[in-house]
Amino acid sequence: MWIVDELENSIDIVELVSRYAKLKKAGANYKAVCPFPGHTEKTPSFMVSPAKQLAYCFGCHKWGGALKFVMDIENIEFKEALQILAGITWKKLEGFDSEKYKVQKNIYNLYKDAVSYYKKALENNPEAQKYLYDRWLKKEDFSKFNFGFSDSGISLYNYLKEKWYDDEMIKKSNIFVNIGQRKDKFIGRIIFPIQNLRWDFVAFTARILGKWEPKYLNSPASELYDKSEILYGLFQAKKSITTKNFVVIVEWQMDAISMQSAWFLNTVAISGTALTEKHLTVLKRLTHKLYLSFDWDQAGKKATKLALETIKNKWFEVKIIDIPKNSDPDELLKSWDNFEEYIKNALSPIWYYIQESDFNISSIEDKKKLLWELLEIVKNYSDPVEVDFYLKEIWKKLDIKDYIIYDYFKRISRQKVKFWVEKEKQEKHNFSLEEIAIWYILLDEKHKKFIEDNIIFPDNIWKDLKEIIENTEKIESFEITKRDKLKAISMKISSEEENDTENRIQEDLGNFVKKLNTFYYKKIVSELKEKMKSWDDNAFLEYSKIIKIAKQNNIK
Ligand SMILES: [Zn+2]
Repeated sequence: MWIVDELENSIDIVELVSRYAKLKKAGANYKAVCPFPGHTEKTPSFMVSPAKQLAYCFGCHKWGGALKFVMDIENIEFKEALQILAGITWKKLEGFDSEKYKVQKNIYNLYKDAVSYYKKALENNPEAQKYLYDRWLKKEDFSKFNFGFSDSGISLYNYLKEKWYDDEMIKKSNIFVNIGQRKDKFIGRIIFPIQNLRWDFVAFTARILGKWEPKYLNSPASELYDKSEILYGLFQAKKSITTKNFVVIVEWQMDAISMQSAWFLNTVAISGTALTEKHLTVLKRLTHKLYLSFDWDQAGKKATKLALETIKNKWFEVKIIDIPKNSDPDELLKSWDNFEEYIKNALSPIWYYIQESDFNISSIEDKKKLLWELLEIVKNYSDPVEVDFYLKEIWKKLDIKDYIIYDYFKRISRQKVKFWVEKEKQEKHNFSLEEIAIWYILLDEKHKKFIEDNIIFPDNIWKDLKEIIENTEKIESFEITKRDKLKAISMKISSEEENDTENRIQEDLGNFVKKLNTFYYKKIVSELKEKMKSWDDNAFLEYSKIIKIAKQNNIK
């Protein structure tokens, strides 16, 4: 059995979900106030079906079996969700108790122990503490971010040995330069442990106390730590990000700490790397509003532009916090309390681009080029008022007549999808004919026969539907998101039609199959017409055949 099936089968969704939401029995199902991040509600629209082993929210339309539920609720990737499920079913599972997973678990534990060692060492080192207090950090920050200090490789080594870690495991942890000499590579440094979204420690950043170089030293990339994926401070920030519905992204870990310490809890750091698509995937599940606050030097500017490029066309709204020259957020927080004002006055990418651009506005060519670039950015905004605001900004700034701008904008936005709000709506509410057909079959096997008997162009039906008609069980072999979606549709429709009589459903099905036939008919005809354009003889023959069948069956 595939590991995912094995895991999902050994977990009861009701038991799993009750770890996150207070479930109340409602008929055959359970109800709760929606626990998914980003959706707050008073009356419960979140349902769990023990029979289908599925959770579904009628408010925010998130759905899933055990695995997808964990991914959505914890904001984690597939791999991590698997590990959580494996953790829950630990005793029940044998096949998954693989060597690799054990090693990972041991490293997590080792890091946890190392962190508690480093923390103790910091408590005994007033000089290191002073460094942190001098940066305006508070006592609470020490425990929140688990600050530590590396004082002695030998005692760290002995401490780990006492906890029964063997040399091989200690070597794998990447903390020691040389185990024989018990040499901790972070010696003399303040330790900033890096956590993943689930709390586990996955790596360390360490700052030298004193004037030595390099100032900061990081753990190397590893199976647990991928810089292009992990955002520093996100574990601490994730709740605040969903509540405030925006995230502030800074360059350096220290900036994220200072910001959070100054009550800008929704701040994360990219740790001196570029903002990547992986970062965005993680953030997208929490919010679609990003505020960039990078350093104001050349490197920071470059990082900002690069980030804007990465964010473009991904349905994010982005603003750039315009801090005074020669300062970084960390320094600012020390001298100003009104960072809030900076957030409020953050620049749109439009302003930022214009401010930073080398375009010569008096050259028509440059002006046009800049205009297209700016409109491309505006297109990504979802709020019409905001869009209008930016368009105004452009015509004022570039000194072009407003109707020309609107005309250009219409052209550019027509080419692509409208705005993501509408896109999301479509994705959530419009199920395709194929999906509905599959739903009928899942609802009752006897509908399968009806569909089979009444479909007029059986050779043309979709692959998935064909598979389901051949064997309903096939659904279990579908890719998880697809499978869960189909099951969720069935849950949604069946609860809407709970009180419907069997006759009503039969009548609906009859109408639906008619719709299906019309759809296939139109599809076949348009394909044939294409072929007929190139005088394909077979296409002509086929065409008259199809028209005849359609007439006989009263399809228009
Ligand atoms: Zn919901």
